[in-house]
Amino acid sequence: MNWIKKTLKIGEKIKTLLKKRPTKDEIKNSEWISCCKGPVLKKDMENNLWVCPSCNKHHRISCKQRFDIIFGKNNYEILKTPTPQDDPLQWKDTKSYKDRLKDARIKTGMDCGIMVVNSKIDNINVTAAASDFAFIGGSVRAAEGDALLTGIQHAIDNQHPFINFTSGGGMRMFESLISLSQMTRVTLAINELKNNNLPYLVVMCDPCAGGITGSYAMIGDIHFAEPGALVAFAGARVIQGTVKEELPEGFQKSEYVQKTGFIDAIVERKELKEKINSILSILLKKNSDISSIPDETSEDVRTITKAAS
Ligand SMILES: [Zn+2]
Repeated sequence: MNWIKKTLKIGEKIKTLLKKRPTKDEIKNSEWISCCKGPVLKKDMENNLWVCPSCNKHHRISCKQRFDIIFGKNNYEILKTPTPQDDPLQWKDTKSYKDRLKDARIKTGMDCGIMVVNSKIDNINVTAAASDFAFIGGSVRAAEGDALLTGIQHAIDNQHPFINFTSGGGMRMFESLISLSQMTRVTLAINELKNNNLPYLVVMCDPCAGGITGSYAMIGDIHFAEPGALVAFAGARVIQGTVKEELPEGFQKSEYVQKTGFIDAIVERKELKEKINSILSILLKKNSDISSIPDETSEDVRTITKAAS
């Protein structure tokens, strides 16, 4: 066989390989999902809360899947959030921003990348927000900022703690400064939450990066993170290029970030609900040990003191 025939044969092989690759739709509609040891049945993965039984990888999940796990299936009320104008800068690159938004809405069934709900963890009323990475990488624009503000205002109005399951690549640069200003808006809103003495819990989910880590994901009263979640501001390659040093193993993984003091605890997905519940019980003094300590100004103590005198 001469070299021309050999090259043609290799070309044919490559063509067949490329042809055999499944399309995005085929992957989405398949009953299988891929992880470390090859395909795993989606049903098995779902029963394990979308955590790989072999390598413990916490797969990315949608907002509804997240809330179903924490609050119970459909056991929450989805709050309506504002819909600001799409594409204020008339952005277009390889594809128009309007088309990207349209595709993301079809793919996720959401108007924006953040969903806000009102629900309960055991007997504690909470307001919670979660991001969907499938909605343009979980990036934040005016709509996502407004969604968070709606959630925080709801928490203040109802005196609820606010739980934020943060994830996403950062601010959405298709909206330039409008996106960047969401960091300040949400930070100011969280300050209001704190002025009202309401707990603000952050659960960092994979990936949590850019302006999200640079603002509202890092100012919680308590910071939880899922195992192996990427928690970063700038990308590792950018940092390595700047400092010109080899970065340590596991750099920017939640376990590493915990060692640097930015994360309080790494919590497995199956234990999140219980951990959130117990920390809220302590912060809201609903824990039986804590609530048994008498408050000097409480009605009961005043009655007892009066009776004793
Ligand atoms: Zn795996």
